[in-house]
Amino acid sequence: MSDNHHSEGLATPVRYVKGVGEIRAEQLARLDISTVGDLLLTLPRRYDDRRQFVPIGSLRGGETATVRGTIMSCGWVAARYGKGFFEALLRDDSGIIRCRWFNSPYLKDQLKQGDAMVAFGKVSRSKGFTVFQHPEFELAQDDGEESLHVGRIVPIYALTEHLPQRTMRRIAWNAVELFARQAEEMLPPDTLQRLHLPEVQWAIGQAHFPDNLEHARWARYRLVFDEFLCIQLVLVARKVHAEQFLVGTAHVAEGHVRKRFLSTLPFALTAAQERVLKEIETDMQKPRPMHRLLQGDVGSGKTVVAVCAVLDAIECGSQCAVMAPTEILATQHARTFRQYLEPMGIQIALLTSDMTAADRSRILAGVEAGSIHLVVGTHAVIEDRVVFKKLGLIVIDEQHKFGVEQRGALYGKGEQPDVLVMTATPIPRTLAMTIYGDLDVSLLNEMPKGRQQIVTKVVKEEQLPKAYGFISQQVAKGRQAFLVYPLVSESEQSDLRSAEEMFKTLKGSVFQKERLGLLHGQMKTAEKDAVMQQFRGGKIDILVATTVVEVGIDIPNATVMLVENAERFGLAQLHQLRGRIGRGAHKSFCILQGTPTTLESWQRLKVMEETLDGFRIAEEDLRIRGMGNLLGREQSGLPPLRVGDLLLDSEILLDARKEAFHIVEGDPKLEDPRYERLRARARALYKLVGSFVKVG
Ligand code: ADP
Ligand code: MG
Repeated sequence: MSDNHHSEGLATPVRYVKGVGEIRAEQLARLDISTVGDLLLTLPRRYDDRRQFVPIGSLRGGETATVRGTIMSCGWVAARYGKGFFEALLRDDSGIIRCRWFNSPYLKDQLKQGDAMVAFGKVSRSKGFTVFQHPEFELAQDDGEESLHVGRIVPIYALTEHLPQRTMRRIAWNAVELFARQAEEMLPPDTLQRLHLPEVQWAIGQAHFPDNLEHARWARYRLVFDEFLCIQLVLVARKVHAEQFLVGTAHVAEGHVRKRFLSTLPFALTAAQERVLKEIETDMQKPRPMHRLLQGDVGSGKTVVAVCAVLDAIECGSQCAVMAPTEILATQHARTFRQYLEPMGIQIALLTSDMTAADRSRILAGVEAGSIHLVVGTHAVIEDRVVFKKLGLIVIDEQHKFGVEQRGALYGKGEQPDVLVMTATPIPRTLAMTIYGDLDVSLLNEMPKGRQQIVTKVVKEEQLPKAYGFISQQVAKGRQAFLVYPLVSESEQSDLRSAEEMFKTLKGSVFQKERLGLLHGQMKTAEKDAVMQQFRGGKIDILVATTVVEVGIDIPNATVMLVENAERFGLAQLHQLRGRIGRGAHKSFCILQGTPTTLESWQRLKVMEETLDGFRIAEEDLRIRGMGNLLGREQSGLPPLRVGDLLLDSEILLDARKEAFHIVEGDPKLEDPRYERLRARARALYKLVGSFVKVG
């Protein structure tokens, strides 16, 4: 039986690995492991050097160590206060250590006197005793397998319920023994030579059961490199392909329209805005389509830059589309662009989901005839079969939500428009290189002068009345405020109730004098519009809202933001929310009311207190939450990373990207048969490489 399955190589279902039955296969599935290949690329989260054990008698407080001994005695220790703990006294020839586990009464069924045990943890000293608090442990078993688990550097894997470390290690061992040899080398020998890379089969073996820690590092490097190389190859191929083969419109504008616009602004551009504009202009003048990312923190002034690009395109006779992630933001953009551009005779149309059919077809006709120069809307602008006479520039105001795949669909359009993607949330460089690795990047790394500092404070629920009082004071001074409430659960229904309830409650109690408005995602576009209009016009003092206000809204007179249950929000989201204030001439205040229940949520709020720097916040976010959670995979178009870590492995990523350029520049259509396997792997990883790069 098994021979058949061997022929499928690493695609063999994991249940054909010795030691994996139906139950184990289900447990492994929870770890996202379904094939042998998945298993082999699920690397240990760390290694434990068990070639020699540290004598218990020589342990010092504060150090991390692995010891081996025999359980002298064990049992539940009731505490006078609190819950008590399970304790085992572990002895070797040199001494005794007290191993303590809280909340683990079930251990009495697992540990017993006389058992041999390996324990790993951080050593502390307590009342003269040497103590392990909640150490990881493994019991020796009479299965003749001790040589797998001690006397070597052993892998420690991430586990799931009812899957013990020893079992996982045994399964990994069996998989390596039987299948590592079937791993296909996807890089040609001269590449391995040139880059000093070990062979993949060796790497798989050593990544799990290394001879020494240096080998483990090399092995992991190789596997991470492969993963990153596949991703980068797709992105870089697309980038180089666009540069070399696609024909777009050369927008060589004289720039007089743009100059006229700039002269109407009450401020001068920052040096960063000037520089970025130059980069965009240079791109747009080329006959190749521009594919550029404009990255700039909240409030850095991306909109003005976009307006300039739009003006250049229109001056050259092109039409433009501006796409925003929400209708509120699209509406605001339409207003901004109208205010700036209508005096110059430029025709602007806003497309929303709830406009009348008549309005809609009138606009579509205008776009097709070319009498409308600029269309603003959500993604529907592109997806709704809007026909342009001559679409020359698309501006996408977006953060993470417009992934590689959607961009690929845009590029597929016959006209090859210039594309400018703007991200409001700064993201770490490595992440940008991965999500936006097919784009050139411009960085707005300077804030307009005279920006007000924002003071951020985390408060407890008891302090809310004081916070409300502070808001009243600010309103009395003529300022405005946002009150933001989280999604209580997944359902929009409960979200809606929450903001609505608070709106009613506050209106009838602490904010009787102030004028309150309500804004949430379930309101009709026209209703949302009306509320925003009133808030902007100063007819509403306090806007009670959900995260619909998260992105882009620009109300310079708003100086306070109170976010209740701030622990429910992600860091990027809090940063975006806070970006709604501090945009005018007045000092601003962000109050985060939170009851953090986990270390993670507490850390998040602390970071918000400490810094206003979007890049730092983004890196902290990545550090705290890990890559997987930072953004939705589907939305980013990023394939799941199994081995690599965008934060820890940034150097490997740079190496892989460099190699991707090396490969693609020598072989832009990826036709060289030496890269056959690499190409197949990359394609399988993305499943959409073919949609934007015709490769052979
Ligand atoms: P974001 O990058 O978040 O989209 P905006 O483009 O909305 O930022 O700009 C935020 C505010 O700063 C707007 O009110 C805008 O008019 C103003 N602004 C833009 N550029 C400058 C500048 N160079 N000097 C002063 N204010 C500016
Ligand atoms: Mg903006």
